[in-house]
Amino acid sequence: MTVKISTPKCPKCDGSEFELWIQKEESVGCAKCWSCNEHFLLFDSQDYWFDIIAKGYPRKSRCSCKEYIFTIRVLYELRDDGDVKAIKMWTTCRACELDKLKLTVKIDYTETDSLIDHPLIYCANPEIQYKLYEASLYATPEDIAEIAAHLVQGSFLPCGYLWKNGKPIKTSEGPEEIYNAIKNDKYSFIYFAPRKLDWQKIESLTAKQEEQFWKRNELIRISAPTRMHFHDKVGRLYFIKFSTEFIQPDATVLSKSPEFTERANVFLKWLESKYYGARGPLCFDNKEEHYRLFDDKFKKSYRDKA
Ligand SMILES: [Zn+2]
Ligand SMILES: [Zn+2]
Repeated sequence: MTVKISTPKCPKCDGSEFELWIQKEESVGCAKCWSCNEHFLLFDSQDYWFDIIAKGYPRKSRCSCKEYIFTIRVLYELRDDGDVKAIKMWTTCRACELDKLKLTVKIDYTETDSLIDHPLIYCANPEIQYKLYEASLYATPEDIAEIAAHLVQGSFLPCGYLWKNGKPIKTSEGPEEIYNAIKNDKYSFIYFAPRKLDWQKIESLTAKQEEQFWKRNELIRISAPTRMHFHDKVGRLYFIKFSTEFIQPDATVLSKSPEFTERANVFLKWLESKYYGARGPLCFDNKEEHYRLFDDKFKKSYRDKA
């Protein structure tokens, strides 16, 4: 295995000491140069950072000796063709010199030179949050088919990653086929967009790119259920996700069209009027399912109190 080792410096001032905010599970991180105070996102973090911090900002890294300033050292594992396969980043504490593996990033795409040439990408404001909606529903396939039909009646156009004969087919389909796929759990994602989506482009997306796709575009995305186990009971947990804003590479927030934002909000209101919200603000359960799974555990919670 070929490897390449580097000790990245601040692109602005050539400083080598940083404060760090790392989200290890998601393989992203932000560094603040100790000399010039500028912020930088690490490696390919820029592509995911703002989506990840929408769910909570990572805590500042601290050494067990309480110091929070580090130098960084990076090891790139290279594929035979020279592309980066994985990145490992170690930190050395300025005070006690403790060495620690802080971040591992697996790379599943090509043209990766910039990860080596520019490991630190300037970011004017890493703390910007944008409007990302992730609704969760304990519901039945029939409920979800009804929600899909409601969106179609509201002239959203559906298309999805459906399954046929045990294989995923990335294809655009008519509403009936979509409803059937939902009722039979034969899909991964279904999108509902005000305009026809360019399916050719969607088809070739990797899982990580798909995450970016639905956030950047004007669409509502319904995902296949996860089976959740509660002692002897099993429930279907669905997610309906969309965003009404997104963050551009220069870290400014761009709103989606007022029409989309309005329609998405009307849709949320409809979900709220039709489904049961005891679990929280963006929770829309089938009431029977909710009581079957949770009994009265959420009796005194969120919407009942209001
Ligand atoms: Zn600097
Ligand atoms: Zn230390």
